[in-house]
Amino acid sequence: MNQPAPEKPPVVLELQGVRKSYLLPDGSRLPVLNIPHFTMLQGEQVVLMGRSGSGKSTLLHIISGIARPDAGKVIVDGVDITQLSEPARDLFRAERIGYVFQTFNLLAGFTALENVLLAMSFGRRRADEKRAVDLLTRVGLNHRLDHRPSALSVGEQQRVAVARALANRPKLLLADEPTASVDVGHQKQIIDLLRTTCEQEQVALLLVTHSPEVAEQFERIEELEELNQVETSSAAS
Ligand code: ADP
Ligand code: MG
Repeated sequence: MNQPAPEKPPVVLELQGVRKSYLLPDGSRLPVLNIPHFTMLQGEQVVLMGRSGSGKSTLLHIISGIARPDAGKVIVDGVDITQLSEPARDLFRAERIGYVFQTFNLLAGFTALENVLLAMSFGRRRADEKRAVDLLTRVGLNHRLDHRPSALSVGEQQRVAVARALANRPKLLLADEPTASVDVGHQKQIIDLLRTTCEQEQVALLLVTHSPEVAEQFERIEELEELNQVETSSAAS
């Protein structure tokens, strides 16, 4: 009868008092984010919704360390990345965070396989060609390993981007409107792929979308306007 309580997965992302503003050309500051607290657990899948211009991309940039907040802590896998130097943040991101961009950001001069291998080479581990091929196989591109982005369909390019984001076994995968540039027919495929591969590897997934159809597949839906306590002087349009 003495069943141990089910263990709660560890926290993989914690934001504390994160504020971000942009400096405008007239010297004033545009406050964009003020997020008192936000957490995600290992392997958790969260969808983030919000109007255009509400700060979703800014938030993902801060979580990934591409941008620094004005204040607050961004703790990823136990490390407050706001305390790291820029090169250390870049290395940390390469090793523990995957990022899928709306416009894929694949390197045009490299094949699908090389794009994934290159992502591996940014981390500290040695590039693992077997894993790169395995990831591309999982996204259904084992017959397209030697194609450059220009010789891939848009949906295929985004599938390469998904494989690349998982290259280094990240703890957290950030996806910023990953289906916005993909035709409707392939949107579900990309989302399913992200969700399945993240689940297989216990990667936490934070996915930004505009689409209610995408959002409703997720158990946890967050509205940025509810998380965000920022006071904007001029009401956003
Ligand atoms: P979302 O991704 O939700 O559409 P963003 O995070 O891209 O929103 O932008 C949030 C707000 O910050 C917008 O009002 C945008 O105009 C402004 N913004 C974004 N980047 C900059 C910048 N580099 N300088 C000034 N303002 C910016
Ligand atoms: Mg955006």
